[in-house]
Amino acid sequence: MSVDRNIHLDALYKDVILDHHRHPRNFGLVEKPAAQVEGYNPLCGDRVDISIALADGKLQDCRFRGEGCSICMASASMMTEELIGKSVPEVQKTIDGFRALLKGEECPLAVEGDLESLVGVRNFPVRIKCALLPWTTLHQAIHKARGEK
Ligand code: ZN
Repeated sequence: MSVDRNIHLDALYKDVILDHHRHPRNFGLVEKPAAQVEGYNPLCGDRVDISIALADGKLQDCRFRGEGCSICMASASMMTEELIGKSVPEVQKTIDGFRALLKGEECPLAVEGDLESLVGVRNFPVRIKCALLPWTTLHQAIHKARGEK
């Protein structure tokens, strides 16, 4: 099932998304993960499995596996590139900011680089969940790793 052809994103942005989809960064599973969570988006059928390692209050490593549309997979790939090495509060701030941005809310976050290519998704409400799935799943994984609900 592919509805990607219905998306009329800027051509340049589309190239960035397709590149991440074809050559996903940090694909796989973290060895001895602090937490591993699977997210599912029934609207599109996207599945993403996020595993993380935390050390010294930082997201030391984050990997993903899964199957889904190009938006979801590219978003997961970009997310890992953006967030690995950041402190946990910074990671959470970025997740909240990205979520707000895609929902068209006020966002204090400066989105730069490849991530910028996903901002256009907010014009396609059906695909917002695709782009957000890896981020909300990572959010859950961090909570799980820290023993929070
Ligand atoms: Zn999707």
